[in-house]
Amino acid sequence: MPPLTRDDILAYLRETDPGRIDQLRREADRVRRQAVGDEVHLRGLVEISNHCVRGCTYCGIRHDHDSVRRYRMRADEILACARRAHQLGYGTVVMQAGEDYGIGRDWMAELIRAIKDQTGRAVTLSLGERPEEDLVAWKRAGADRYLLRFETSDRHLYKRIHPDRGSIISDRLTILETLRNIGYETGTGVMIGIPGQSWETLAEDISLFAKLDIDMVGVGPYIAHPDTPLARHAHEMMLDDDRQVPADQQTTLKVVALTRLVCPEANIPATTALSTLSDRGRESGLAFGANVIMPNLTPMDYRRLYEIYPAKSCLAEDPQAFHDELLRRLSAIGRRPGTGPGHRKGRA
Ligand code: SAH
Repeated sequence: MPPLTRDDILAYLRETDPGRIDQLRREADRVRRQAVGDEVHLRGLVEISNHCVRGCTYCGIRHDHDSVRRYRMRADEILACARRAHQLGYGTVVMQAGEDYGIGRDWMAELIRAIKDQTGRAVTLSLGERPEEDLVAWKRAGADRYLLRFETSDRHLYKRIHPDRGSIISDRLTILETLRNIGYETGTGVMIGIPGQSWETLAEDISLFAKLDIDMVGVGPYIAHPDTPLARHAHEMMLDDDRQVPADQQTTLKVVALTRLVCPEANIPATTALSTLSDRGRESGLAFGANVIMPNLTPMDYRRLYEIYPAKSCLAEDPQAFHDELLRRLSAIGRRPGTGPGHRKGRA
């Protein structure tokens, strides 16, 4: 298949014919197998804090959501989760949080060192728009990867859903470049079906993944959290029916497939948000080009409080039970858990 143009991407996004959508799935699956193989890399996710300084209008843990009880895990609690990841055979520990400056530069660096020393896992961070000095210190401490979704390539829409922090302009594309220069494997992504998101914008998002030559891409449906400004104002922001991208499974799967086609070697998760839409969401993601799953290892009492959107599919998942079920489901679809850290092919 020749490289996809932005118009091809747009046409696939708007495609409704089941035969053509299946053709897209088959092509993405073929490219996935050829470029990254049948292994599904497992990354243990630990949601280490729900404190946040930002006011993202889509997010349930933004700073002015007063009814959220806030937590920050202790280092020994996080280390226990990292050891759990190791025991379960996961190659990577992912630490995610709100943008929390209570997570200090040195504290985090020490924690990263301890995780590397005690478990030898790859370490991925997803801690928001931290200053360059923090990102450098954490890379030096041994962190391997950093995730920072640009959320949408439409600058106007971005400003509406992801406000600047006082005088500090939020420019995630520049931070992605910084991360790359520091030496991180870098991941980004978008939400699908944000009120005000057009098909053209979404096609541009996918083209931008390719342009950035990004190492990891996570995409998931936007799931409205009722206590957020975006949920309250959605009706004012929604485009006409033929222009507004729906936040549904089929659109998300198309985006996963198109991302695989434009970034053949990227590590692409079947995300928690996707599996929240349907029980078989993860398998569908894997069938449409994904090759990563991020099992949640956050202790239950904290997990409930990391409510970026309601009814996250992982709320009932005990790590061991989830793991056993996951292995069954992978083998049922002819895939196997990854071995090793699961770095981007050709980069490590
Ligand atoms: N503070 C970090 C981690 C945020 S949570 C950061 O800002 O990078 C990780 C991702 O969850 C976000 O980048 C966003 O794309 C997604 N997310 C947040 N709220 C969501 C919602 N209501 N529905 C779907 N995805 C959401």
